[in-house]
Amino acid sequence: MKPQTSSILVRGRILHFLRDPAQSGAGPAWEYHPDGALFIENGIVRRCAAWAQVLESLPELTHEAARYHDYSGRLIVPGFVDCHTHFAQLRVMGAYGHQLLEWLERYVFPAEAAFADEGRARRSAAFFLDRLLAHGTTTASVFATVHAHAVDAFFAEASRRSLRMLCGKVLMDRNCPENLRDTPELAHQESAALIERWHGKGRLRYSITPRFAPTSSPAQLAVAGELYHSRKDLHLQSHLAENLAELAWVRELFPQCRDYTDVYDSYGLLGPRTIYAHGIHLSAPERRRLAETQTAIATCPSSNLFLGSGFFQTAAQDDEAMPLGFGSDVGAGTSLSMLRTMAAAYQVGQVHQESLSPWQAWYRASLGGASALGLDAFIGNFLPGREADFAVLDARRIPELAFRLEGNTDLAEELFALMMLGDERCVLATHVLGECAHHLDGLGIQ
Ligand SMILES: [Zn+2]
Repeated sequence: MKPQTSSILVRGRILHFLRDPAQSGAGPAWEYHPDGALFIENGIVRRCAAWAQVLESLPELTHEAARYHDYSGRLIVPGFVDCHTHFAQLRVMGAYGHQLLEWLERYVFPAEAAFADEGRARRSAAFFLDRLLAHGTTTASVFATVHAHAVDAFFAEASRRSLRMLCGKVLMDRNCPENLRDTPELAHQESAALIERWHGKGRLRYSITPRFAPTSSPAQLAVAGELYHSRKDLHLQSHLAENLAELAWVRELFPQCRDYTDVYDSYGLLGPRTIYAHGIHLSAPERRRLAETQTAIATCPSSNLFLGSGFFQTAAQDDEAMPLGFGSDVGAGTSLSMLRTMAAAYQVGQVHQESLSPWQAWYRASLGGASALGLDAFIGNFLPGREADFAVLDARRIPELAFRLEGNTDLAEELFALMMLGDERCVLATHVLGECAHHLDGLGIQ
């Protein structure tokens, strides 16, 4: 699918965030137009306002020439941002009976080893991306496998769909099966070649991807740091403080480091455009260090519940003002849906008497996630100049939600019901650069 040069007008109930609702600041944190319009040219948002206002501001010819998508009554939000997921693990999503380290050995490593087959990597990438679109997700930070061709497959499929995506080759040179092991030299050589091939091509960006500290030697972590600092706009993704057995193992492997965060810090792996999944078991000094280096955390509540890893505490993070996004973390996560991820985040928060507000949740699934990934200059809301990726939600597609919301006129109530009871069944359509890339009733039908 290629963006077309013609202009597009979209009508519906439009909601987007301008800043973090949890932070005090001037002006409103979000904008809502009950009868709103998006005017899009060449895949870029030019206007987002009330329908009548947008129409009035457009010369008649422009407005008549535009292709028109009428989603009146439906909620239009920026495409969801999934800050942490693994496309090779879709086949082992929902695998029975283990916690993190055993689960990796038993299910994940064999599934990733199967990606030695290029055909499987390509088919999986295409399926994964189509399913993301079906869930309303238009941007994700994605782990491939140790195989460079898995990254090629992912980026090729993302490029065919004109998606803004981050991905990287997994770096692992110890404590993992032989058939998934690279070396510091190979890690450098293959990552550098992939950066050359894909970074900055269209909407794609490369993310240096050491799996986590236990599976990389000090020499390989040093290579990851060297790569991350080799260009100003590269990204980096990994895992941090997910499980207590993992923490004990990290202490054993890196006795010279103060804590888990210090391991990554020592190799220059903290900073802007870096994001770590989980961050459940962090001390206050670690959170402070992450905040001062602008390192982001992707919280993955459905994964944390599924593997019994622990309960992320949002209040502790907010005190330190760390950038936070949501991750589906498939395959430990049990759904690609950001709506279901928000529901799990609410349930995890309740354990600590923290009731995640719908505003905070929807912010984190859009602009918050985009900021955590360092992509908020491109995506995350509908300010003029942003790329026009959006999801169209229709709560009426789920009978219980339709029943629950009958007669409701309160937006916060609707957002909360949608995040608690909704899923991909209410993602009516997903648009990428203005073009319809997924529709529940088939493409071309509205
Ligand atoms: Zn993960």
